[in-house]
Amino acid sequence: MKSRQIKLKHLIMSVAMAAFFFTSIGSIWSGYRMNVDSIRENSLETNRVYAQKLATTASSYLEESFQILGYSAGTIKSKMDDENALNEVTERLKMQNNMFNSVLVTNADGLVLSVSPPSVEVKGEVLTSVGAEEALSKRKPLVSKPYEGLTGRLIIFISYPIFSETDEYLGMVAGTIYLKEQNVFYSLLGEHFYHDGSYVYVVDADGRIIYHQNPSRINDIAIENKVVQAVVAGNNGSQQVVNTKGVEMLAGYSAVPLAGWGVVSQRPLNVALEPSFDRVQDVGIKALPLMLVSIIIVLWAATRIAHPLQQLATLTEESLNKKNVEGLKSVRSWYFEAYYLKSALVRSLSFLQGQVSYFKDQSTTDPLTGVTNRRTMDTVLAKWQEELLPHAIILLDLDHFKSVNDTYGHAVGDKVLQYLAQNMKTVARDGDICCRYGGEEFIMLLPNTTAEEAAQVAEQLRGNLANSISPCGRPVTLSAGIAVYPQMADTIEGLIEAADGALYRAKQAGRNQVMVARTTPNAK
Ligand code: GH3
Ligand code: MG
Ligand code: MG
Repeated sequence: MKSRQIKLKHLIMSVAMAAFFFTSIGSIWSGYRMNVDSIRENSLETNRVYAQKLATTASSYLEESFQILGYSAGTIKSKMDDENALNEVTERLKMQNNMFNSVLVTNADGLVLSVSPPSVEVKGEVLTSVGAEEALSKRKPLVSKPYEGLTGRLIIFISYPIFSETDEYLGMVAGTIYLKEQNVFYSLLGEHFYHDGSYVYVVDADGRIIYHQNPSRINDIAIENKVVQAVVAGNNGSQQVVNTKGVEMLAGYSAVPLAGWGVVSQRPLNVALEPSFDRVQDVGIKALPLMLVSIIIVLWAATRIAHPLQQLATLTEESLNKKNVEGLKSVRSWYFEAYYLKSALVRSLSFLQGQVSYFKDQSTTDPLTGVTNRRTMDTVLAKWQEELLPHAIILLDLDHFKSVNDTYGHAVGDKVLQYLAQNMKTVARDGDICCRYGGEEFIMLLPNTTAEEAAQVAEQLRGNLANSISPCGRPVTLSAGIAVYPQMADTIEGLIEAADGALYRAKQAGRNQVMVARTTPNAK
């Protein structure tokens, strides 16, 4: 049967596939989310720890610088006018530890007395930069802000004051860091940069970048950055931020309190999460065979579930046409609903067929006696006459039946009628049809039968009845009239009328006898 309606098989399949799809997507998604969260946490923590380690390194460097410069200040306080001694000290400081790009000694007015390397031609000049002036006026160990020095370089200035035995301020010994050139930061903070976009940078107290893998960024103000704001405020921690290029970063940060600096270590979010994408892909690929197997199983199951219902539908239609339920019974209904549906269908179809045949019987037979009713008798006779089939009829009527009813009651009368019908069937030959004509009158239809043969049948019935005890406790008798088609009449009415005439004569002649109609219908 073709239909626009959706098939159960496809329905089950769609539902199962949808459930499968959403479950898979859901679990992959939640797995991915968990993975992403843990990677983010890990990355933030790693960067925080790394920034802290670098901050500690930077602090140690500054402490050591002050220590070394302080020690040198002690050794030269008595030799401030000995040029050779000063040169020796600056040279040693420059060479020995490689902590500074240049080292110099000034007097109390900022006049450079000695410088190493000598290529920095500032000897004999007075330092006027903000950093130098701050150190000269404050007269204490100091780390300057980045500034442009006499040589035009971007410089950080780490200075230590020189005091005489009598506490007179004599000048300072200072080391510089050239921010835009190879400097101590590279060896301290690691020279090899990651190529995945991770990097470290250092800011001063104003949020100015003093170290960055990209030299062009040095001296930029980065105070807009939330992480920079946090670290210059003296905090340590980690945070997800957007950098100046609009890239999401997972940043760890740590302050260097000694100089008010901050170290930031960060890794791009998408780089950190890359393994997660790979994992999702991996899970997807690994789940693919499982998915295919599931699809096949769902297809198979849907077909198996739909099959009995499909069969029940087809076979129900078929059994309505064939009028039997055997096909339906053979359907393998392997699950409850199909089984239930099948038995309901078998039962209702059997019932329906029972009802149909019952009504059919009802319409053709007489309910009291079980012989053919008058309507069917008319049909049979009409057919025979149409086919010009020669036949005889016996019209018979019980004698004094009223008195049977009156004496024994109507119920016994009915029993007598059934008893008569039974006897009619006994004498009927193959092809003979017994009918109830009405009341206590019956007709036998005898195909291909002559008047003599019909008289023999009638006579046998009459004899049987007269010689046996009926349900009323005594024999009952009948009278019968016989007519033959087409000799005596060629219509149903004419034939019955002829038989009725013969019956009348039998009654008149004293009942309990059989009469054949006269050949001429009109002569009753
Ligand atoms: P006759 O010998 O002249 O035929 O006398 P009768 O008493 O048989 O008279 P009639 O044929 O006129 O009577 C028919 C009676 O049959 C009348 C009615 O009470 C009875 N009868 C008709 N149908 C039924 C039936 O279905 N059951 C019973 N118990 N009696 C019926
Ligand atoms: Mg009668
Ligand atoms: Mg009668």
